[in-house]
Amino acid sequence: MIDLHTHSLYSDGELLPSELWRRAQVKGYRYLAITDHVDASNFEVVFTRLRTAALSLNRGDYPVLIPGLEFTHLPPVLIAPIAAQARALGVPLIVVHGESLAEPVAPGTNRAAIEADIDILAHPGLITQKEAALARERGIFLELSARKGHCLANGHVARTALEVGASLLVNTDSHGPGDLITRQQAEGIAKGAGLRETAVQTLFTDAEALARRLAEI
Ligand SMILES: [Zn+2]
Ligand SMILES: [Zn+2]
Repeated sequence: MIDLHTHSLYSDGELLPSELWRRAQVKGYRYLAITDHVDASNFEVVFTRLRTAALSLNRGDYPVLIPGLEFTHLPPVLIAPIAAQARALGVPLIVVHGESLAEPVAPGTNRAAIEADIDILAHPGLITQKEAALARERGIFLELSARKGHCLANGHVARTALEVGASLLVNTDSHGPGDLITRQQAEGIAKGAGLRETAVQTLFTDAEALARRLAEI
């Protein structure tokens, strides 16, 4: 399993990074990114902690832990400048909390995220074809979410991404141990979003390539 969007108790998750990592190991994970919720007030301290966790846990056993951040409910105009600051700090993985149907995320967040230096637009809700095409151009992944509420637009996200050739991945957005899933369950979510077998295989190949690249940074 490759899961590039989860939360620890450094935001609103239930577990320390070490326990989340161990729980993921038992589920058969090979790559686990912890991407806690951040804004301008906490991205530096959260990244420092997650980087320390990754340095201590990455000793050769799976899963490879990737420290990341999820910019959450930022005014869209702030996304690009804070993403640039995070990159300068060495953050390998930047996720943006997209325009989920489940929350009042500011309109324009999807667009601003795709125009910024980020890696994954999470749960992008009713993303437009133009936005998905720009994501493709910029190499930004669009997320199919295993999380209740955020998953409501998975079918739309999958169809729109396929129409323009944007890369997809399945993330759990885990906040607790019961949210982690197996590779088989992730395949079910991708198929449930309407992807055919070959598109499902492409999704996992693309996600693996992204995870490997991020793990090297
Ligand atoms: Zn989110
Ligand atoms: Zn999240």
